[in-house]
Amino acid sequence: MTSDDLQAVTACVSDADRVITNAQIVQRLSRDFYWYSPVLKKLLDDKVAEVVVQPVSTAEVVKVLACCYARGVPVTARGAGTGNYGQAIPLHGGVVLDLLRMDAIEEITGDGVAVVEPGVRLGVLENAARAVGWELRCYPSTIVKASVGGFLGGGSGGIGSVAHGGLRSFATVRAVEVVTMEAEPRVVLHKGEAVHEVLHAWGTNGIMTKVWLALTPAVAWAQCAVAFASFDAAFDFGEKIACDEAWMKRLVTVFEWPIPSCFTSIANVTRSGQALVFLMIAEAQLEQLRAAAEAAGGEVTLAAPYSGLRTVPLLSDYTWNHTTLWAMKQDSAFTYLQCGFSASQARRQFAVLKEKFGDELLLHLEFLKTGTGEVIPAAIPLVRFTTEERLNEMIDFCRSIGVSVANPHSNSVEGGGRYREDNIQLLTKQRYDPRGLLNPGKMVTFQPQ
Ligand SMILES: Cc1cc2nc3c(=O)[nH]c(=O)nc-3n(C[C@H](O)[C@H](O)[C@H](O)COP(=O)(O)OP(=O)(O)OC[C@H]3O[C@@H](n4cnc5c(N)ncnc54)[C@H](O)[C@@H]3O)c2cc1C
Repeated sequence: MTSDDLQAVTACVSDADRVITNAQIVQRLSRDFYWYSPVLKKLLDDKVAEVVVQPVSTAEVVKVLACCYARGVPVTARGAGTGNYGQAIPLHGGVVLDLLRMDAIEEITGDGVAVVEPGVRLGVLENAARAVGWELRCYPSTIVKASVGGFLGGGSGGIGSVAHGGLRSFATVRAVEVVTMEAEPRVVLHKGEAVHEVLHAWGTNGIMTKVWLALTPAVAWAQCAVAFASFDAAFDFGEKIACDEAWMKRLVTVFEWPIPSCFTSIANVTRSGQALVFLMIAEAQLEQLRAAAEAAGGEVTLAAPYSGLRTVPLLSDYTWNHTTLWAMKQDSAFTYLQCGFSASQARRQFAVLKEKFGDELLLHLEFLKTGTGEVIPAAIPLVRFTTEERLNEMIDFCRSIGVSVANPHSNSVEGGGRYREDNIQLLTKQRYDPRGLLNPGKMVTFQPQ
């Protein structure tokens, strides 16, 4: 960017303090959790924006995009920067558009739809929703930090997905307003099925400025941890709870030993050598769950009411992709995969994987309802990283036995496994970002016109 470019961009916002050029801050705001992947770490370590701009309104977003379009300056959207695939890292400098200041909760409607700006933190929204009898349908384990826009732009699901599916299922995202990257940016509303044109597109085909997110009635939850002598017994129990509609649950996670040995701050709920199941279950069913766990041969190591995100310990802090973080703290050689097992073949698939890879791959399962209503064991297995070739060999082997893999070691929308086969994200980019200036390099099938 030239000094002229910088001056022009600065004129787009009402307060020059919201244009950051301090090299250290710009570097920090150019990063996310890409370092979870040794492959991405090597690829992205030196990538940095030239300036960070913090708009406070849709009107400012429109001005910044028009200015950058005219000058050919790339723009990379950013929420809280907790993505794992380097989604928010600018490959070609330019502007990082930090949307955290657009954080208004405009309304929570009587029928449970939150109307919010993209920068609102998911934890803030969860608290606001619970205060009026609603709660999020699903959220990442980074709920406290992550933003709504970043979740829609780069996330997929998490706690709650066992009952409500991922972010893309069951019309959870009702509508999204996006600003296009054109000479005269348009503010376009995507409703119903059309939200899929902009979901999980990593900010490559529009900047989201407003979101309508469907909620679910709030439940009084409890947390429960159960240790089992074998992984098979833990899986059987977790599967029973996850798949039986009679249980009202928000989380069912199964860890193979030695993964629980990484949870040093909650060692009291782990048992040496034993597999572990973590659950969030309706408080009204807690005693019934305890009885079921004991009948299945488990030892209940924690059973307590949940009083919100400040509950200590907060079991969700050890699930989904937080598990990988705890493991990496113990041994930096750990990395991970994102897998989907077949509901009917999972036991055979686990056995084949363990036979082939032994402790090079450790099973960490998260039950998830798919868009068809089937509950499957999804997984974020830990992998002991040696080389990229070996990692790719493991991915290929998983796929060869019917285990799907959304590759978290890829820096493109298409490579990550959440790309829509019907190309609607790409077709939208062609319409909304003809010069290819939004997060350039991340949608690799796109050719500028
Ligand atoms: C410990 C850990 C655990 C995690 N667990 C989960 C999990 O359980 N489930 C899950 O899905 N993810 C998980 N993640 C990944 C990540 O935390 C979530 O996806 C989170 O919702 C991302 O939100 P963010 O605000 O940090 O987004 P960012 O990282 O800032 O952005 C993500 C993507 O969205 C784009 N974007 C941001 N705002 C906008 C906007 N307004 N318009 C258009 N594009 C935009 C960015 O350009 C980027 O491509 C985890 C990550 C970590 C580090």
